[in-house]
Amino acid sequence: MSRIAVYPGSFDPLTRGHLDIIQRASKIFDHVIVAVSNNASKKNVFSVSERIEMVEESIRNLPNVDCDTISGLLVDYMRRKKAKVLIRGLRVVSDMDYEFQLASFNRRLNKDVETVFLMPDDQYTYLASSMVREIARLGAGTEQFVPSFVARRLKLKFGSPKVK
Ligand code: ADP
Repeated sequence: MSRIAVYPGSFDPLTRGHLDIIQRASKIFDHVIVAVSNNASKKNVFSVSERIEMVEESIRNLPNVDCDTISGLLVDYMRRKKAKVLIRGLRVVSDMDYEFQLASFNRRLNKDVETVFLMPDDQYTYLASSMVREIARLGAGTEQFVPSFVARRLKLKFGSPKVK
C-alpha cells in the first residue's frame, strides 16, 4: 500500500522553508499532496489559483509531489484521498502551541490521521510567509527567501515602492 502524505497550508506565498519541508517529505513518503487551503475567513494576498500556480512551478522536479486545493475539513479530504499522514513544519518552540492544538483536533476528528512534524534546514528557521509579504510590500527583493518564480510574482503583485 502506498503511503500518501498531505502537507496543508496557506502558502501565501510558498517559501523556501515550505519547499524544504516538501522535499524532505517526498523522500519519506510515496506520494505527497501539497494542499493549498481555500479558507474564505483568511485574508490572503494571493488568490488560491495564484498560490497553486506558485506551488506547481516549484514542485516540477519532484515526481511524487502533487498540488491540490482544499476548502472543507482537512480530515475529510484525507479520507477521500486515503491519506493517513498529515505533514506540518515546526520551526521554533513557539510554533508548537498552535501546531499541537491543530494536531490534537485533527486526531479527534479522525483517529487514523497521524500528524508528522518535520524540521527545516536551520537557514529557514526564521522564515515565514508573513515576513516575506511584508518586505515585498516595502519594496525589498525576496529571492533569498522564496523560489525565483515566486519572487517575480511578489514583484508583480506589489510593484516598486512609491517614493514620496
Ligand atoms: P497555515 O496558515 O496553515 O499555518 P502556512 O503556509 O503558514 O499555513 O504554513 C504551513 C505549514 O508550513 C505550517 O506547518 C508551518 O509551520 C510550516 N512552515 C511555514 N514556514 C516554514 C518554514 N520556514 N520552515 C518550515 N516549516 C514552515
